[in-house]
Amino acid sequence: MSAAVELPGYSLLYSGKVRELYAPIDPSTGGVSQDQLLLVASDRISAFDYILDSEIPDKGKVLTQLSLWWFEQLTDIIPNHVISTEVPDAVAGRAVLVQHLEMVPVECIGRAYLTGSGLAEYRQSSSVCGVPLPAGLTDGSLLPTPIFTPSTKAPIGEHDQPMTFSEVEAQIGMPVAAHVRDLTIAILKRGNEIAADRGILLADTKVEFGFDRSRPDADGNPTIVLADEVLTPDSSRFWPAARWQPGRAQDSYDKQFVRDWLTSAASGWDRSSGETPPALPGDIIEATRSKYIEAYEALTGRAFA
Ligand code: ATP
Ligand code: MG
Repeated sequence: MSAAVELPGYSLLYSGKVRELYAPIDPSTGGVSQDQLLLVASDRISAFDYILDSEIPDKGKVLTQLSLWWFEQLTDIIPNHVISTEVPDAVAGRAVLVQHLEMVPVECIGRAYLTGSGLAEYRQSSSVCGVPLPAGLTDGSLLPTPIFTPSTKAPIGEHDQPMTFSEVEAQIGMPVAAHVRDLTIAILKRGNEIAADRGILLADTKVEFGFDRSRPDADGNPTIVLADEVLTPDSSRFWPAARWQPGRAQDSYDKQFVRDWLTSAASGWDRSSGETPPALPGDIIEATRSKYIEAYEALTGRAFA
């Protein structure tokens, strides 16, 4: 797995599962910027909650370019954190200079279709995060309307826990809680309107918001800004619309090859063993890379350069 690159003029602040955060250094004072960040996407990929040893070439670029394209499609719904795409050559195409925001301490998840942890909760309680749902839904069902199913931001190594809307309200207060709920749903709806024409369903998504306190609204509340990445295959479930069939697990757009190979006899890996998965063969890496590019090209209508 690749380590973070050294970037002259930038100081590494954080290395996450997929991305690195750097603070620009002011050349005149030598001080580290408090209000800007360089967000660098790597080619790392996770599956079954493991960061794999293999990387997917160009994944960082594809996801960065896809997020930038989505930010543009969403500007009438919400401002975003992007300042500039002029970045050091070493990270060209996969880095963005952004506003360093105070992040909203809630994972804002929207679901248009039912699957994964939402489905598991529904089977227990007929609701997800306190939102009651009709009877008879199954894996992959389209929900009557998209729902907000937030979760806690668990520290590294711990699992995020579902939250009810009242718990979000207790943590971040009103009207911010209602704003992030409505924004999450508006982003997912817009995403699905656009993706539907391109044969892709966005089953669910996680968005991250930040506060821009330098821009308070008329009531003195900070402006809410869309941060992180948005509507990418890493933050969302992308399903090919043509193969959507409720009642079974859907094919995931991008990681299907990786998951299928890891769980096949060919990998020699036993998911229940607790061991780290093996490196991926070249053809699986190449097929996965092609899928990421296909998603980018289908959605944006642009060729991936
Ligand atoms: P997670 O599982 O929550 O995504 P992570 O460690 O995998 O965590 P990465 O996605 O690898 O995180 O790194 C991105 C990090 O940058 C996240 O912690 C995200 O909250 C943070 N971030 C994104 N945009 C901004 C911003 N504009 N200001 C401050 N922090 C940001
Ligand atoms: Mg992340």
